[in-house]
Amino acid sequence: MIIIMKPDASAEAIAKVTGIIEGKGLQAHLSRGDEVTIIGVVGDKSRLHGSNIEMSEGVDKILNVTESYKLVNKKFHPDDSVIPVGNTFIGPGTFTVMAGPCAIENHDMLLESAQAVKKAGASFLRGGAYKPRTSPYSFQGLEEEGLRYMKEAREATGLNIICEVTSLRALETAVKYVDMLQIGARNMQNFELLKEAGRSRVPVLLKRGLSATVDEWLNAAEYIISEGNPNIVLCERGIRTYETATRNTLDLSAVPVIRAKSHLPVIVDPSHASGVRAYIEPLSKAAAAVGADGIMVEVHPCPSCAMSDGPQSLTFEQFDSLMQNLKPYIQLAGRA
Ligand code: PEP
Ligand code: MN
Repeated sequence: MIIIMKPDASAEAIAKVTGIIEGKGLQAHLSRGDEVTIIGVVGDKSRLHGSNIEMSEGVDKILNVTESYKLVNKKFHPDDSVIPVGNTFIGPGTFTVMAGPCAIENHDMLLESAQAVKKAGASFLRGGAYKPRTSPYSFQGLEEEGLRYMKEAREATGLNIICEVTSLRALETAVKYVDMLQIGARNMQNFELLKEAGRSRVPVLLKRGLSATVDEWLNAAEYIISEGNPNIVLCERGIRTYETATRNTLDLSAVPVIRAKSHLPVIVDPSHASGVRAYIEPLSKAAAAVGADGIMVEVHPCPSCAMSDGPQSLTFEQFDSLMQNLKPYIQLAGRA
Protein backbone atom coordinates (compact mmCIF):
# COMPACT_ATOMS: atom_id res chain seq x y z
CA MET A 1 0.00 0.00 0.00
CA ILE A 2 1.00 3.62 -0.33
CA ILE A 3 0.30 6.53 1.96
CA ILE A 4 -0.05 9.85 0.21
CA MET A 5 0.77 12.74 2.50
CA LYS A 6 -0.89 16.15 2.24
CA PRO A 7 1.16 18.75 0.31
CA ASP A 8 1.74 20.72 3.54
CA ALA A 9 2.64 17.68 5.70
CA SER A 10 5.52 18.54 8.04
CA ALA A 11 8.73 16.55 8.35
CA GLU A 12 7.62 15.54 11.87
CA ALA A 13 4.29 14.22 10.56
CA ILE A 14 6.11 12.18 7.89
CA ALA A 15 8.56 10.83 10.47
CA LYS A 16 5.69 9.87 12.75
CA VAL A 17 3.97 7.86 10.00
CA THR A 18 7.18 6.05 9.00
CA GLY A 19 7.77 5.39 12.71
CA ILE A 20 4.39 3.66 13.01
CA ILE A 21 5.13 1.53 9.93
CA GLU A 22 8.61 0.51 11.05
CA GLY A 23 7.38 -0.06 14.59
CA LYS A 24 5.17 -2.82 13.18
CA GLY A 25 8.16 -4.49 11.50
CA LEU A 26 7.31 -3.23 8.01
CA GLN A 27 9.46 -1.22 5.59
CA ALA A 28 8.64 2.41 4.77
CA HIS A 29 9.99 3.77 1.46
CA LEU A 30 9.83 7.53 1.06
CA SER A 31 9.41 9.21 -2.31
CA ARG A 32 9.54 13.01 -2.10
CA GLY A 33 8.04 14.61 -5.18
CA ASP A 34 7.77 18.31 -5.96
CA GLU A 35 4.18 18.37 -4.71
CA VAL A 36 3.68 15.53 -2.29
CA THR A 37 5.51 12.86 -0.35
CA ILE A 38 4.47 9.26 -0.84
CA ILE A 39 5.29 6.56 1.69
CA GLY A 40 5.33 3.05 0.24
CA VAL A 41 4.75 0.21 2.68
CA VAL A 42 6.32 -3.20 2.07
CA GLY A 43 5.41 -6.21 4.16
CA ASP A 44 2.31 -7.73 5.71
CA LYS A 45 0.08 -4.69 5.93
CA SER A 46 -2.46 -6.48 8.14
CA ARG A 47 -0.05 -5.67 10.96
CA LEU A 48 -1.15 -2.06 10.66
CA HIS A 49 -4.70 -2.94 11.68
CA GLY A 50 -5.68 -0.90 14.70
CA SER A 51 -2.86 1.60 14.24
CA ASN A 52 -5.28 4.21 12.84
CA ILE A 53 -2.53 5.35 10.50
CA GLU A 54 -5.12 6.99 8.21
CA MET A 55 -5.97 9.34 11.10
CA SER A 56 -2.34 10.44 11.58
CA GLU A 57 -1.51 14.09 11.09
CA GLY A 58 -0.59 14.98 7.50
CA VAL A 59 -2.03 11.82 5.89
CA ASP A 60 -4.14 12.59 2.82
CA LYS A 61 -5.13 9.11 1.61
CA ILE A 62 -4.12 5.46 1.56
CA LEU A 63 -4.16 3.39 -1.62
CA ASN A 64 -3.76 -0.32 -2.09
CA VAL A 65 -1.05 -1.46 -4.51
CA THR A 66 -2.40 -4.65 -6.04
CA GLU A 67 0.67 -5.47 -8.18
CA SER A 68 3.16 -7.88 -6.59
CA TYR A 69 6.06 -5.60 -7.50
CA LYS A 70 6.24 -2.64 -5.16
CA LEU A 71 9.57 -0.78 -5.14
CA VAL A 72 9.83 -0.66 -8.93
CA ASN A 73 6.17 0.36 -9.16
CA LYS A 74 5.39 3.84 -10.42
CA LYS A 75 2.79 4.13 -7.65
CA PHE A 76 5.58 3.93 -5.07
CA HIS A 77 7.80 6.39 -6.95
CA PRO A 78 5.85 8.58 -9.40
CA ASP A 79 8.93 10.44 -10.74
CA ASP A 80 10.98 8.62 -13.38
CA SER A 81 14.29 7.44 -11.95
CA VAL A 82 17.65 8.64 -13.18
CA ILE A 83 20.25 5.91 -12.78
CA PRO A 84 23.89 6.90 -12.20
CA VAL A 85 26.30 4.54 -14.00
CA GLY A 86 30.05 5.09 -14.32
CA ASN A 87 30.60 8.64 -15.56
CA THR A 88 27.04 9.16 -16.79
CA PHE A 89 23.31 8.89 -16.08
CA ILE A 90 20.55 6.83 -17.74
CA GLY A 91 16.97 8.07 -17.70
CA PRO A 92 14.74 11.03 -18.59
CA GLY A 93 16.27 13.62 -20.89
CA THR A 94 19.08 11.31 -22.00
CA PHE A 95 19.52 8.78 -24.80
CA THR A 96 22.21 6.25 -23.94
CA VAL A 97 23.92 4.27 -26.67
CA MET A 98 25.67 1.04 -25.69
CA ALA A 99 27.60 -0.60 -28.51
CA GLY A 100 30.23 -3.25 -29.11
CA PRO A 101 30.72 -6.84 -30.13
CA CYS A 102 28.44 -9.68 -29.10
CA ALA A 103 31.46 -11.48 -27.62
CA ILE A 104 34.95 -10.32 -26.67
CA GLU A 105 36.92 -12.49 -29.10
CA ASN A 106 40.41 -11.15 -28.51
CA HIS A 107 42.30 -8.08 -27.26
CA ASP A 108 42.72 -6.26 -30.53
CA MET A 109 39.17 -6.58 -31.86
CA LEU A 110 37.82 -5.25 -28.56
CA LEU A 111 40.16 -2.25 -28.41
CA GLU A 112 39.49 -1.50 -32.05
CA SER A 113 35.71 -1.73 -31.47
CA ALA A 114 35.96 0.52 -28.40
CA GLN A 115 37.77 3.24 -30.36
CA ALA A 116 35.24 3.04 -33.20
CA VAL A 117 32.07 3.17 -31.07
CA LYS A 118 33.54 5.97 -28.96
CA LYS A 119 34.34 8.00 -32.06
CA ALA A 120 30.80 7.52 -33.37
CA GLY A 121 29.32 8.80 -30.07
CA ALA A 122 28.45 5.78 -27.89
CA SER A 123 28.92 6.17 -24.14
CA PHE A 124 29.06 2.46 -23.25
CA LEU A 125 31.12 -0.43 -24.58
CA ARG A 126 29.30 -3.73 -24.51
CA GLY A 127 31.01 -7.09 -24.92
CA GLY A 128 30.29 -10.58 -23.66
CA ALA A 129 32.92 -12.36 -21.57
CA TYR A 130 30.48 -15.08 -20.44
CA LYS A 131 28.30 -16.09 -23.37
CA PRO A 132 25.00 -17.93 -22.88
CA ARG A 133 25.14 -19.98 -26.10
CA THR A 134 22.39 -22.25 -27.36
CA SER A 135 24.93 -25.03 -28.01
CA PRO A 136 27.47 -26.08 -25.35
CA TYR A 137 30.01 -26.56 -28.18
CA SER A 138 29.86 -22.91 -29.28
CA PHE A 139 32.40 -20.32 -28.04
CA GLN A 140 31.59 -19.65 -24.37
CA GLY A 141 33.60 -16.45 -23.88
CA LEU A 142 37.03 -15.42 -22.58
CA GLU A 143 35.75 -14.95 -19.01
CA GLU A 144 38.11 -12.95 -16.75
CA GLU A 145 40.63 -12.40 -19.53
CA GLY A 146 37.83 -10.67 -21.48
CA LEU A 147 36.98 -8.51 -18.47
CA ARG A 148 40.61 -7.38 -18.32
CA TYR A 149 40.42 -6.29 -21.97
CA MET A 150 37.18 -4.42 -21.22
CA LYS A 151 38.91 -2.56 -18.39
CA GLU A 152 41.77 -1.70 -20.68
CA ALA A 153 39.28 -0.42 -23.28
CA ARG A 154 37.67 1.79 -20.64
CA GLU A 155 41.06 3.21 -19.69
CA ALA A 156 41.88 3.88 -23.34
CA THR A 157 38.56 5.51 -24.30
CA GLY A 158 36.68 6.68 -21.18
CA LEU A 159 33.71 4.52 -22.22
CA ASN A 160 31.66 2.91 -19.48
CA ILE A 161 31.72 -0.87 -19.69
CA ILE A 162 28.91 -3.40 -19.43
CA CYS A 163 29.19 -7.20 -19.40
CA GLU A 164 26.69 -9.98 -19.02
CA VAL A 165 26.95 -12.32 -16.05
CA THR A 166 25.53 -15.81 -16.42
CA SER A 167 26.31 -17.29 -13.00
CA LEU A 168 27.07 -16.34 -9.41
CA ARG A 169 30.74 -17.10 -10.08
CA ALA A 170 30.78 -14.77 -13.10
CA LEU A 171 29.07 -12.04 -11.09
CA GLU A 172 31.61 -12.28 -8.29
CA THR A 173 34.42 -11.72 -10.80
CA ALA A 174 32.68 -9.14 -13.00
CA VAL A 175 31.84 -6.72 -10.16
CA LYS A 176 35.57 -6.07 -9.82
CA TYR A 177 35.74 -4.74 -13.39
CA VAL A 178 32.48 -3.42 -14.84
CA ASP A 179 30.42 -0.22 -14.52
CA MET A 180 27.22 -2.13 -15.19
CA LEU A 181 26.21 -5.78 -14.96
CA GLN A 182 23.97 -7.23 -17.63
CA ILE A 183 21.50 -9.98 -16.77
CA GLY A 184 20.48 -11.57 -20.03
CA ALA A 185 17.16 -12.80 -21.35
CA ARG A 186 17.94 -16.41 -20.43
CA ASN A 187 18.63 -15.52 -16.81
CA MET A 188 15.83 -13.02 -16.23
CA GLN A 189 14.21 -15.42 -13.80
CA ASN A 190 17.41 -16.79 -12.27
CA PHE A 191 16.32 -15.57 -8.86
CA GLU A 192 19.59 -16.36 -7.06
CA LEU A 193 21.50 -14.34 -9.65
CA LEU A 194 19.01 -11.46 -9.34
CA LYS A 195 19.36 -11.42 -5.56
CA GLU A 196 23.14 -11.45 -5.75
CA ALA A 197 23.05 -8.59 -8.29
CA GLY A 198 20.83 -6.75 -5.80
CA ARG A 199 23.36 -7.27 -3.02
CA SER A 200 26.26 -6.18 -5.26
CA ARG A 201 25.10 -2.54 -5.55
CA VAL A 202 26.58 -2.39 -9.09
CA PRO A 203 24.03 -0.94 -11.58
CA VAL A 204 22.19 -3.66 -13.49
CA LEU A 205 20.79 -3.85 -17.03
CA LEU A 206 17.97 -6.37 -16.84
CA LYS A 207 16.94 -7.78 -20.19
CA ARG A 208 13.46 -9.09 -20.77
CA GLY A 209 13.14 -12.88 -20.79
CA LEU A 210 12.46 -14.60 -24.10
CA SER A 211 8.86 -15.33 -23.16
CA ALA A 212 8.38 -13.07 -20.16
CA THR A 213 5.36 -10.84 -19.64
CA VAL A 214 5.97 -7.27 -18.55
CA ASP A 215 4.74 -8.16 -15.06
CA GLU A 216 7.19 -11.07 -14.79
CA TRP A 217 9.97 -8.75 -15.95
CA LEU A 218 9.06 -6.12 -13.34
CA ASN A 219 8.93 -8.81 -10.65
CA ALA A 220 12.45 -9.85 -11.69
CA ALA A 221 13.54 -6.22 -11.21
CA GLU A 222 11.82 -6.26 -7.82
CA TYR A 223 14.17 -9.11 -6.76
CA ILE A 224 17.15 -6.82 -7.42
CA ILE A 225 15.75 -3.68 -5.79
CA SER A 226 14.42 -5.57 -2.77
CA GLU A 227 18.02 -6.55 -1.93
CA GLY A 228 18.97 -2.87 -1.77
CA ASN A 229 20.09 -2.06 -5.32
CA PRO A 230 17.82 0.59 -6.91
CA ASN A 231 20.11 1.15 -9.91
CA ILE A 232 18.29 -0.90 -12.51
CA VAL A 233 17.69 -0.24 -16.21
CA LEU A 234 15.36 -2.48 -18.21
CA CYS A 235 16.08 -3.64 -21.76
CA GLU A 236 13.44 -4.79 -24.26
CA ARG A 237 15.22 -7.24 -26.60
CA GLY A 238 12.36 -8.91 -28.43
CA ILE A 239 10.11 -11.77 -27.43
CA ARG A 240 9.27 -15.15 -28.93
CA THR A 241 6.27 -15.13 -31.25
CA TYR A 242 5.14 -17.20 -34.25
CA GLU A 243 6.93 -14.79 -36.62
CA THR A 244 10.10 -16.18 -38.19
CA ALA A 245 11.13 -13.25 -40.44
CA THR A 246 13.01 -11.79 -37.48
CA ARG A 247 14.95 -13.61 -34.74
CA ASN A 248 12.47 -12.32 -32.14
CA THR A 249 9.61 -9.82 -32.28
CA LEU A 250 10.50 -6.40 -30.92
CA ASP A 251 7.73 -5.44 -28.51
CA LEU A 252 7.90 -1.68 -28.89
CA SER A 253 4.73 -1.29 -26.87
CA ALA A 254 6.67 -2.54 -23.85
CA VAL A 255 8.35 0.89 -23.68
CA PRO A 256 5.19 2.95 -22.97
CA VAL A 257 3.80 0.05 -20.90
CA ILE A 258 6.89 0.09 -18.67
CA ARG A 259 6.70 3.88 -18.52
CA ALA A 260 3.13 3.59 -17.20
CA LYS A 261 3.90 0.86 -14.66
CA SER A 262 7.40 1.66 -13.43
CA HIS A 263 9.79 4.53 -12.75
CA LEU A 264 12.79 2.57 -14.09
CA PRO A 265 14.45 3.58 -17.39
CA VAL A 266 14.00 1.24 -20.36
CA ILE A 267 16.27 0.83 -23.39
CA VAL A 268 15.82 -1.23 -26.57
CA ASP A 269 18.16 -3.82 -28.13
CA PRO A 270 17.26 -3.92 -31.85
CA SER A 271 20.13 -6.34 -32.59
CA HIS A 272 18.87 -9.34 -30.61
CA ALA A 273 15.26 -8.33 -31.31
CA SER A 274 15.59 -8.54 -35.09
CA GLY A 275 18.70 -10.64 -35.75
CA VAL A 276 19.07 -8.77 -39.05
CA ARG A 277 21.58 -5.96 -39.64
CA ALA A 278 19.32 -4.11 -42.08
CA TYR A 279 16.58 -3.66 -39.49
CA ILE A 280 18.75 -2.09 -36.77
CA GLU A 281 18.43 1.48 -38.01
CA PRO A 282 14.62 1.63 -38.49
CA LEU A 283 14.09 -0.11 -35.14
CA SER A 284 16.53 2.26 -33.39
CA LYS A 285 14.61 5.22 -34.78
CA ALA A 286 11.37 3.63 -33.58
CA ALA A 287 12.91 3.11 -30.13
CA ALA A 288 13.77 6.82 -29.90
CA ALA A 289 10.31 7.78 -31.15
CA VAL A 290 8.47 5.55 -28.69
CA GLY A 291 10.33 7.11 -25.76
CA ALA A 292 13.12 4.63 -24.97
CA ASP A 293 16.00 5.86 -22.80
CA GLY A 294 18.55 4.42 -25.20
CA ILE A 295 19.62 1.46 -27.32
CA MET A 296 22.11 -1.40 -27.18
CA VAL A 297 23.61 -2.33 -30.56
CA GLU A 298 26.07 -5.01 -31.66
CA VAL A 299 29.05 -3.75 -33.68
CA HIS A 300 31.96 -5.84 -35.01
CA PRO A 301 35.14 -5.00 -36.97
CA CYS A 302 34.29 -7.84 -39.40
CA PRO A 303 30.72 -9.10 -38.96
CA SER A 304 31.21 -11.93 -41.47
CA CYS A 305 34.11 -13.26 -39.32
CA ALA A 306 32.27 -12.85 -35.98
CA MET A 307 32.24 -15.83 -33.60
CA SER A 308 28.64 -15.00 -32.66
CA ASP A 309 25.75 -12.89 -33.95
CA GLY A 310 27.54 -11.73 -37.13
CA PRO A 311 24.32 -11.34 -39.19
CA GLN A 312 22.95 -8.76 -36.72
CA SER A 313 26.23 -6.90 -36.15
CA LEU A 314 26.96 -3.55 -37.79
CA THR A 315 30.32 -2.61 -39.29
CA PHE A 316 32.04 0.47 -37.83
CA GLU A 317 30.89 2.52 -40.84
CA GLN A 318 27.31 1.32 -40.49
CA PHE A 319 27.32 2.18 -36.79
CA ASP A 320 28.67 5.64 -37.49
CA SER A 321 25.96 6.22 -40.06
CA LEU A 322 23.31 4.90 -37.63
CA MET A 323 24.47 7.45 -35.03
CA GLN A 324 24.26 10.28 -37.57
CA ASN A 325 20.83 9.25 -38.87
CA LEU A 326 19.46 8.77 -35.36
CA LYS A 327 20.30 12.30 -34.19
CA PRO A 328 17.11 14.07 -35.40
CA TYR A 329 14.95 11.34 -33.84
CA ILE A 330 16.72 11.68 -30.49
CA GLN A 331 16.30 15.46 -30.63
CA LEU A 332 12.65 15.18 -31.57
CA ALA A 333 12.13 12.92 -28.56
CA GLY A 334 13.51 15.75 -26.41
CA ARG A 335 16.65 13.89 -25.44
CA ALA A 336 20.34 14.47 -25.83
C1 PEP B 1 23.66 -10.24 -25.40
O1 PEP B 1 23.32 -9.06 -25.21
O2 PEP B 1 24.80 -10.57 -25.69
C2 PEP B 1 22.65 -11.31 -25.28
C3 PEP B 1 22.99 -12.59 -25.20
O3 PEP B 1 21.39 -10.85 -25.31
P1 PEP B 1 20.02 -11.54 -24.80
O4 PEP B 1 20.22 -11.93 -23.37
O5 PEP B 1 19.03 -10.43 -24.98
O6 PEP B 1 19.76 -12.69 -25.70
MN1 MN C 1 24.71 -11.26 -29.25
